[in-house]
Order: sequence, then structure tokens, then C-alpha cells
Amino acid sequence: MNARTPLIVGNWKMHRDHLEAIQLLQRLAYHLTEEDTAEQETVVCPPFTALRSLQTLIQSDRMAVALGAQDCHPDPEGAHTGDISVPMLARLDVRYVVVGHSERRLHHGEDDALIARKARAALAGGLRPIVCVGEGETARESGQAEEVVLAQVRGSLVDVSPAEAADLVIAYEPVWAIGTGRTATPADAQDMAAAIRGALAERYDEATAAGIRILYGGSVKPANIRSLMTLDDVDGVLVGGASLSAEDFALIVGHRRGV
Ligand code: PEP
Repeated sequence: MNARTPLIVGNWKMHRDHLEAIQLLQRLAYHLTEEDTAEQETVVCPPFTALRSLQTLIQSDRMAVALGAQDCHPDPEGAHTGDISVPMLARLDVRYVVVGHSERRLHHGEDDALIARKARAALAGGLRPIVCVGEGETARESGQAEEVVLAQVRGSLVDVSPAEAADLVIAYEPVWAIGTGRTATPADAQDMAAAIRGALAERYDEATAAGIRILYGGSVKPANIRSLMTLDDVDGVLVGGASLSAEDFALIVGHRRGV
């Protein structure tokens, strides 16, 4: 048992308009018990267009769910058409922001240097960045998974100070497991999470590394959540597809219920 608060995050990606998002969150809240959300954090990351509606719903119904965003710009404001800044997110009570998701690395050409700037901007603005790393299939098959992932960890944390590092979250998401129904084995997820923690200890120190939460992501479902949450170095999960079903996500959040 460690002192890190478990963290369950749903990434809705480009799904659900703001009305559908309200319905989904209401359904989720209906299925969650107080016990499910106690002593762990539950976060949903809807599209930007739903953040304001969900902020209002969470506040008015006093839901034990926090808001996350799926991306941010590294600058606080400026001529950046189509982008959203950290201060804008903070004003909506957004507490977490995903940076460096593999879909943004792949489809928007985001590199580690940009992701580090986003992570620093999030921390400076009072948000907790969920920094995503993960190897592709080729790297996994050629035995280079750890090398690739640790290089991403180091590159994505450039200039993140030791004082800020406690608020970091790292999500290990093997690209070949995202949306494919294939999951890393618990042993592989644990090995990579431990390797990431080792790299964080080298970058900062043992105590800082011991306080940083590391999530696993990649086809997390109600059927595999328990085997992941028992791993020593895995402190939670980042869930894509299954977070779009209120019933499935509630089972994932309520994994301790043992149903
Ligand atoms: C993700 O996109 O972060 C993810 C883990 O997706 P899925 O759960 O659908 O594999």
C-alpha cells in the first residue's frame, strides 16, 4: 500500500456534444455510490465544448467527480486560433489536463519539447498535467519499448522543477493497446510503471518519484480493472472507449465493490 491517491480518468475524446455530455455524466453519477468515489479521484475529460455545462452540473449536484481537459496551449493567451489556454481551463474549475496523448503526437505532430511546455504551463496555472507516454507496436516487438517510453518521459518533463513534480501524473499508454481491445499484461504494465518511477527518481529523487502517480491506459474495461489496480506502481487508469458507457465507467470507478 502506498500513499498515492488512486486516480481514474475518463477521456471522452471527440465524442458527445454538450447535451449528450450532461446526460452521460448524470447517468454516471446515478450509478456511482459514495463508497466508489471515496479515497480516490474520479475525473472526466469531455470535449472543450462541454466543460462549462459539466462544471455547472458538478457544482449544482455536488458530484464527487472532477473535470479534466484533453489538451491545452503552452501560452496563457495570444494569437493561437483554435487553441485553449490553461487560465481558460482553470476558470472552469478544470483540475487536470491530458498532454501528449498519442493521438496528438501522431495526428498533430506534437513532440516531447512541446509536451514539456504544455506540462509546465499546466503546472504554472494550477492544473495537474497527465503526461502521456507509450511505445508503438514496432518498438514493443523489437524490445525497445522501455527505451522509447523513458526517452518520452525525460523529454516531456524538461524544466519541470522538483517542486512542481509532485503534481505530475504520468500515463503509460502503449499505442498498440489504445482502442484495440488489446491490453498490456499486468506484468508488462507493472514493469513499465516501475521503470518510469525509476526514471523519475533519477530525474528528481526517490521521495519525489514515490509521490508521482502513474496511470495505465489502453483498452481498460470492467473485466481487467482489478488486475491493474492491484499493481504496486500503477496508481490508476486512463480510460478511453469504456468511459463513454456510464455503466462500464461506473464499474471501473467502483472496482473495489467486487461485483
Ligand atoms: C486512450 O485513448 O487514452 C485510451 C486509453 O483509449 P481506450 O481505453 O479506448 O484504449
